Amino acid sequence: MKKVILFDVDGTLVKAGGCGLKALNRAILSMSGVDDICSQFELQGSTDRDNFNNAFKAAFGRKPSKKEFTKLKEKYLEVLPEEVDKAVEDGRYENIKGVENFLKYLSNCSDVFLALATGNFEEGAHLKLVPSGISHYFSIGGFGGDYERREDMLMSAVKNVEKFIGEKIQPPQVYVIGDTEKDVQAAKAHGYHSGIVMDGFGHPERLRSNAPEIIVDNFSDILPWLMWLGLKKDPKGVSRGSYICPDTPIEHAYYGMTGVGSFLSKKDFNEMEKMIKKAKHRKP
Ligand SMILES: [Mg+2]
Repeated sequence: MKKVILFDVDGTLVKAGGCGLKALNRAILSMSGVDDICSQFELQGSTDRDNFNNAFKAAFGRKPSKKEFTKLKEKYLEVLPEEVDKAVEDGRYENIKGVENFLKYLSNCSDVFLALATGNFEEGAHLKLVPSGISHYFSIGGFGGDYERREDMLMSAVKNVEKFIGEKIQPPQVYVIGDTEKDVQAAKAHGYHSGIVMDGFGHPERLRSNAPEIIVDNFSDILPWLMWLGLKKDPKGVSRGSYICPDTPIEHAYYGMTGVGSFLSKKDFNEMEKMIKKAKHRKP
């Protein structure tokens, strides 16, 4: 059965050194004279349509007209390549560790299809990926220039893949890899699998409370990802629906005690921490 793996861009494939934020700041500055507009709201995990509307509203006190939105987008795309270059020059641009090897491996799997699912405009996503050397793995995707809601952008990514391969895709065939809780929420809204890269821009507690199926720092070890994707067997021989990689000492301990990989609620997490502390202090 074909597996469709959808990758977010910022914080998941690359860290582009804030070039999108800087380009949006410059675009708003040139239209309104207001500087550093992006300091007034949170951009991470939202779509460009949402972010650009918010930036315009913060500067002008109202929503942009269609024409104004297009103008803002044009200004942004005009200065983005320069900001990407600056980020590379200043050493602010980096690929997420191990991503080249992971994509190479996946691209050689016959039953796997790779696509982008990002809040960026399509043009913006490709511009941001130019220095990464991995953009050739992604010919199509879903993009946040047309959608305010990440859920709708994800759905469009899957529809575009269906059109491209000429096959209907069922939700369990879709694996979403992102770095914020918004990626997880959008994936769950459609019944897709969700995996999280911790080295991105997500907030650890918010990520855990949204319970993705897997959280791993990056792609330097691809085995947990491959097990999650069902492309490799769990070497421990434990059969579970989804492989959960414990990412904290507490969860390692929980896994060691129960044999079950699980993300704990905040309350359970605190309880477990207390239990482990107590056990450590107990005299033999
Ligand atoms: Mg992201």
